[in-house]
Amino acid sequence: MEANEHLSAGATVAELLAWAFQQLSAGESPKTDARLLLAHCLDQSSTYLMTWPDKIVETSIQTQFQQLVMQRKMGHPVAHLIGTRYFWTLSLEVTPDTLIPRPETELLVEQALQLPIGPNAKVLDLGTGTGAIALSLAYEKPTWQVIGVDIVDDAVALAKRNAIANQLPDVKFLQSSWFTHLSAKTFDLIVSNPPYVESDSQYLSQGDVRFEPITALTAGKDGLDDIKIIIEQSLAHLKKGGWLMIEHGYNQATELATLFTQYKYTNIFHKKDLNNQPRITAAQKP
Ligand code: GLN
Repeated sequence: MEANEHLSAGATVAELLAWAFQQLSAGESPKTDARLLLAHCLDQSSTYLMTWPDKIVETSIQTQFQQLVMQRKMGHPVAHLIGTRYFWTLSLEVTPDTLIPRPETELLVEQALQLPIGPNAKVLDLGTGTGAIALSLAYEKPTWQVIGVDIVDDAVALAKRNAIANQLPDVKFLQSSWFTHLSAKTFDLIVSNPPYVESDSQYLSQGDVRFEPITALTAGKDGLDDIKIIIEQSLAHLKKGGWLMIEHGYNQATELATLFTQYKYTNIFHKKDLNNQPRITAAQKP
């Protein structure tokens, strides 16, 4: 394939990386992508790449690497190509069945951990996907009882695999469309990174999101369809004084505050992400 152009068999780590940087130079993060892909093919860390630039790479690995670089060049997310994404302290398996965990969602984890919640809290993660939020909270708070739900069966299976792989077997995952399979269970904390992108957003035609499930991304014209359901239905599933914390779009904070107020929640607050945009809103059931 054209991937072999300008690169002969028996190339070194440094030569392969240089070739890949060039192939991916039109992308957002050519260097990081190239390193992640080569480290994956070699089954080594990025540090290995720095330490052994002159190491000759086996032909079969070189071929695999070149194929992955070409797929990346066509837009496939690195997380799908290597099947893993780091989130919080965890290494999570990722498949095209769910959203790829995002760094901004670590803000939600960080903020949820700051809430005044007791050691025996019951915690629910709505739309858990890979299980990223549920597993991170359980990792930090081993005495919390954490459940994650997702509408997609394959996501539930994936989250269960991630629980086992990260030695967090006590986290429960089950299939449920928001609260449908949670019967009368109540929680001290409900967290969610729901779909919140506007259905006609330009953003959906660029980058990794093109390869992610649209149902995990969009929620109606204003992106608020699912957030409205969550704010309304959480009332029946929160204990008195329980907290609901939601990730949302940078331009949705006012709408969330309005919805929380409409449903009589108290202590509403927002938190900004690293881009200084409001990204999380939380409130308490009175
Ligand atoms: N923050 C996500 C993004 O940037 C959107 C994910 C979501 O809808 N929950 O793609």
